[in-house]
Amino acid sequence: MTLLERDPNSPPVWRDEIQVTNRYTFGIAGERFFRTIKEKGQILGSRCSNCERTYVPAAEFCERCLDHLDEWIDVGTVGEIITFTHLNVNYDGSPREETETIAFVRLGDGGLIHRLKSSQSPEIQIGMQAKVVFKPAEEREGSITDILYLELIPD
Ligand SMILES: [Zn+2]
Repeated sequence: MTLLERDPNSPPVWRDEIQVTNRYTFGIAGERFFRTIKEKGQILGSRCSNCERTYVPAAEFCERCLDHLDEWIDVGTVGEIITFTHLNVNYDGSPREETETIAFVRLGDGGLIHRLKSSQSPEIQIGMQAKVVFKPAEEREGSITDILYLELIPD
């Protein structure tokens, strides 16, 4: 069937290219969250006094009562390991030379997912305390990569 013989009931199709540009922003709360990591090396949460919840990363609105959140608090850099996974395979399926561990650390009523300090993979257990370790201040850019890793705190 040629183009001129196209089925009249099928949708028309054009093949070409479209120039698309995107700009992704962190949003109001995310911008302040990452700017504070960059400038102060602090993790901010936003507090809902109605629901008594502290959102980490900070959010602009409470997901439960939809109230605007304007109480910002420093939640510190130490939290509990809630869960983790060991990565022994690269994205291309090849085996990793060294195990990488990704963990979720609770901060406030939320938390962060990040890599664990590489030498500590064999030690990690749920319930351990871990500290968020930042890059030196002069190297921070205002992103999640300003965090180098989570470091386990021995009992
Ligand atoms: Zn709320």
